Amino acid sequence: MQPDDPDAFAEIRTAVARLCAQFPATYWRQMDRDAAYPTAFVQALTQAGYLAALIPEAYGGAGLSLSAAAAILEEIQRAGANGAACHAQMYIMGSLLRHGSEAQKAQYLPQIASGALRLQAFGVTEPGSGTDTTSITTFAEKRGDHYVVNGQKVWTSRAEHSDLMLLLARTTPKDKVAKRTDGLSVFIVDMKQALAGGMTIRPIRTMMNHSTTEVFFDNVRVPAENLIGEEGKGFRYILSGMNAERILIASECIGDAKWFITKATDYANERRVFGRQIGQNQGIQFPIARAYAQMRAAELMVKHAASLFEAGRDCGAEANMAKMLAAEASWAAAEACVQTHGGFGFAEEYDIERKFREARLYQVAPISTNLILSHLAEHVLGLPRSY
Ligand SMILES: Cc1cc2nc3c(=O)[nH]c(=O)nc-3n(C[C@H](O)[C@H](O)[C@H](O)COP(=O)(O)OP(=O)(O)OC[C@H]3O[C@@H](n4cnc5c(N)ncnc54)[C@H](O)[C@@H]3O)c2cc1C
Repeated sequence: MQPDDPDAFAEIRTAVARLCAQFPATYWRQMDRDAAYPTAFVQALTQAGYLAALIPEAYGGAGLSLSAAAAILEEIQRAGANGAACHAQMYIMGSLLRHGSEAQKAQYLPQIASGALRLQAFGVTEPGSGTDTTSITTFAEKRGDHYVVNGQKVWTSRAEHSDLMLLLARTTPKDKVAKRTDGLSVFIVDMKQALAGGMTIRPIRTMMNHSTTEVFFDNVRVPAENLIGEEGKGFRYILSGMNAERILIASECIGDAKWFITKATDYANERRVFGRQIGQNQGIQFPIARAYAQMRAAELMVKHAASLFEAGRDCGAEANMAKMLAAEASWAAAEACVQTHGGFGFAEEYDIERKFREARLYQVAPISTNLILSHLAEHVLGLPRSY
């Protein structure tokens, strides 16, 4: 594959690739087989400061740009590793950083940056509401100096491997607010305290190793001082972090696409059938070349969205398009890679089937393609709202 365009993050990319090389394919195969959390990998990334990339230096982080954070996640995926074990730490702390009080930031951010506290869990999705976030029913009722939380979350990834959870809950019932986006609030939940006081975590087995769970709240007390920003404004706080999330996930998909394309190209050059390299057949070349073109186009959109984000400009459409195009490119590359490998694409020791399962997620989560298309149709093209 062609080298990347020279960019400002060559050093970061090399250093991340070097770190990932300490966690070879055999490590990821074992994690996948055991459905285990890659603790050693996450600790190594934390100690090297990569998960604190977006935390300002004043709070002990690296204070890097979103593009730098994107380069880190892309290289993790490109190395064949699975950044899903820890990517959320990069973006969910944004709600705390942008909307938390000075006391909250001083309390949590330096500890998150040092690795003393893990903020990996993000409790938004619920079984009854799905994508319709404003219909969540988990409720936090204010009682004096604390809130009492009741309800259920689903797909709360990494909940068992996190010290803190960023929780979105209703604080005013939906039928008592002027706008359905009002009346939702964001809290920092101390997982240890909550587990001792009514919270239950139940793992969900999934087709890829993702450490995802469902979480039940039964009269869980959360101190009022753990409310982020103003009560009732939480939906806006979560939305304000979405563009960064989309751009970072898109970068992971670009890394996945590059991994699949390299793997497919190497094998197409090496494997001989009918006395010649399979890569000599256009039926093998073209899907890989097409996936490469899709990946490069998506990569341009990711970079464009990141540059708009960094300039403080509106990038909602671009961040969403980047996420959709990159997820589609990684899937096209995954398909081409399996097909190029023939039967060996299905063998565990080639790692393709594992990455194939992992890559599929990003057309569904953290937002599914249909919702991105609806956003573009409504907000960019001016078509009627479809839901
Ligand atoms: C492995 C995994 C990890 C996850 N991690 C987290 C996490 O850490 N925290 C968290 O809060 N959530 C998490 N999620 C949840 C994820 O964000 C949701 O699965 C995703 O947003 C889709 O929501 P849903 O599954 O409820 O699908 P639904 O909302 O039930 O939708 C089902 C299908 O219908 C389509 N659809 C729904 N409404 C419309 C419409 N109006 N127009 C067109 N199509 C529509 C959707 O696009 C989708 O294809 C995770 C999910 C998975 C699978």
